Amino acid sequence: MTPEAALDRVVHCLDRAHDTSFKAKAFHRARNVVRETDPIELAERAAAGTLTKLDGIGDSSAKVITEALDGGVPTYLAKLEASTEVSITPQGQVYRDALRGDCHLHSTWSDGGAEIEEMAATAQALGHDYMVLTDHSPRLTIAHGLDRERLQRQLGVIAELNERLAPFRILTGMEVDILEDGSLDLDDDLLAQLDVVVASVHSKLRMERQAMTERMVLAVASPHVDILGHCTGRLIGKRPESTFDADYVFAACKQFGTAVEINCRPERLDPPRPLLDVAIGYDCWFSIDTDAHATGQLEWQPHGCDRAAEREVPLDRVVNTMGVDDLLEWTTTTG
Ligand SMILES: [Zn+2]
Ligand SMILES: [Zn+2]
Repeated sequence: MTPEAALDRVVHCLDRAHDTSFKAKAFHRARNVVRETDPIELAERAAAGTLTKLDGIGDSSAKVITEALDGGVPTYLAKLEASTEVSITPQGQVYRDALRGDCHLHSTWSDGGAEIEEMAATAQALGHDYMVLTDHSPRLTIAHGLDRERLQRQLGVIAELNERLAPFRILTGMEVDILEDGSLDLDDDLLAQLDVVVASVHSKLRMERQAMTERMVLAVASPHVDILGHCTGRLIGKRPESTFDADYVFAACKQFGTAVEINCRPERLDPPRPLLDVAIGYDCWFSIDTDAHATGQLEWQPHGCDRAAEREVPLDRVVNTMGVDDLLEWTTTTG
């Protein structure tokens, strides 16, 4: 194991544990330093005990680097592998086993922490056949949303990656903002080009109930939108749910073939149980997605699978249990 691979894995494990502590940030930084440092210098410094003289390398990361160079699995990493494993119930496992891909995730092109290729390698290692890359749309400047020109460039990069990664497939997509009037933050011709479109509300989350309902129904009704992302926008313990008429919104999801996302982020777990029950009542489609912003977060599907199992979401209504061809057919005919 190279020092870079060891630190990559440390970062991955810390991310899947949603560890945002100072220590986790320090490991992120150390990993980046190692990436930029000549491996020969690294080995020399490890031998001389001067790794910590490098800006960004502390005692803990120096130990990981040294132990990796010595040829074993670093002690700290071995401990992390065991302590950060994402748990799942036996009932949730049935859903997880059925999933073939992940339809909502980000890369460094917007506000993600990993390159597209790293996300793809991880998705593949998790057993997925495909992933949909859904970086943010232009209006979300805080997340470095992609404008027309950058999205088109990204489509080119994905086409190249797909040639190398086949049979694994990166599907093109975007997490497009639902603007205040219910319109979408991307031109129609581009929306039509993308394989899968996730539409989410990220602004004016406190909008009055009726206006929010109309806003969401309009977006859900768009023929380009396939999945409604994290519908209430809640951040557990931090931000309350947006208010909207769930009957109208989920009836529209059913009517227009837009899947309701079961967002797996631990701080979101959106929709909350009562709303998920309403969506099940309308016989909606669902998509169990991680909304990952780092490779480790791609391991979060168990959170959504447990929730789906608990509320008894019909497994045959979960769109990412489909293979690529069926999913693409679903998006063109239904979603
Ligand atoms: Zn979002
Ligand atoms: Zn997202």
